[in-house]
Amino acid sequence: MSDCIFCKIVEGSIPSYKVYEDEHCYAFLDIFPANRGHTLVIPKNHVKDIHEADAQTYGRVASTAKVVADLLYAQLGSEGTSVFQMNRDAGWQTVFHLHMHVIPRWENDGLHKPWDIAPAAESDLLEVLQQITK
Ligand code: AMP
Ligand code: ZN
Repeated sequence: MSDCIFCKIVEGSIPSYKVYEDEHCYAFLDIFPANRGHTLVIPKNHVKDIHEADAQTYGRVASTAKVVADLLYAQLGSEGTSVFQMNRDAGWQTVFHLHMHVIPRWENDGLHKPWDIAPAAESDLLEVLQQITK
């Protein structure tokens, strides 16, 4: 897609810090990292997000994220890994080419969960479950 920065990264017309590449996916350092080694995994073919990707494409990105997560964990001496994948404006996506964030984590690295933890009412859980599964 001509105006997509991640397509330009795959083509090589925008530079990137390549971490890993295979036939279908490309992984590169995020230049605004949440943590040391923060890497993005993308499909080489343009697809916007989880809702537009077919299951095979999404699966390839997920399995490449697993390879990258293990690579970062082994090489950086990290103590854990967080994987994020944002979709559409409401889901905090800012670059509209499917990508997974693979973020090496250390104890007390200062990152915070983006939601507060509070128990749900059982009635709310049952109501949403009924809507999802009807
Ligand atoms: P999201 O907000 O989930 O859509 O993530 C987009 C990510 O792309 C952000 O974390 C940005 O820091 C990152 N990003 C944007 N432009 C570039 C670039 N040219 N090279 C590497 N990472 C980028
Ligand atoms: Zn693209």
